[in-house]
Amino acid sequence: MVVIAGFLGLIFGSFATAASYRIPRRESIVTGRSRCPHCGNVVTAVENVPVFSYVFLRGRCRHCGNAISPRYPLTELATGVLFALAFWKFGLSLRAVAYAAFFWVLVVLTVIDLEHRLLPTRVIYPSVVAGWLLLTADALIANEPSRLLDALVGMAIFGGFFFTVAFLVPRGMGMGDVRLALLLGTFLGYLGGAGFVLLGMFMSFLTGAVVGGIAAVVTKGGRKMKIPFGPFLAAGTLIAIFVGRPVLDAYLGTL
Ligand SMILES: [Zn+2]
Repeated sequence: MVVIAGFLGLIFGSFATAASYRIPRRESIVTGRSRCPHCGNVVTAVENVPVFSYVFLRGRCRHCGNAISPRYPLTELATGVLFALAFWKFGLSLRAVAYAAFFWVLVVLTVIDLEHRLLPTRVIYPSVVAGWLLLTADALIANEPSRLLDALVGMAIFGGFFFTVAFLVPRGMGMGDVRLALLLGTFLGYLGGAGFVLLGMFMSFLTGAVVGGIAAVVTKGGRKMKIPFGPFLAAGTLIAIFVGRPVLDAYLGTL
């Protein structure tokens, strides 16, 4: 089942590459075929098999020979791994579907934020609505309605904290990060309440500080780089979801 979920993830990853390319360019994500960005040649079905086509074509367009960005196979691979992890953690359940969908959105937002320094509202708002619908259905099926309260608290903590930061330091944090925090807080709170949310926030800042520190050393701190924070929020959330429980237990055990 985990392997099947992984292959399904590769296919949805292919859709994620198209969505992350087209949404910020305001192109339709439903109609239109994928094209080579260099020669405009329409990508055929055989050339569009996730990851495998890239490896088989050695990362080049079959028509013009120009290099294809490795971001496409990497996006597909990341989605495949995250889908497999979702079904490995939650089993064959609506919860696994909800979190796989959530991870898909995180992949799309990460790619868009890295390229455009942008977290589009027309991705985040529908995701928050769809997320609440899926999680509500899951909570009812599992007969665990208290999880919805945890999700609400999570949304308030994560979103509230970032809104405060954005309000106090407008140049430090964008409103896109605040909206993303609402989505992350919902899915973190649903799994582990306030503890998970705080851990996710902490991990976001930790990964951001580590990567920012490495970047400052590599560039010798000369240039002031503008690193988008969205990818770190996504990374911190994933770390909390998959390794949060043992970390929290160990931490609480030392108190
Ligand atoms: Zn080409």
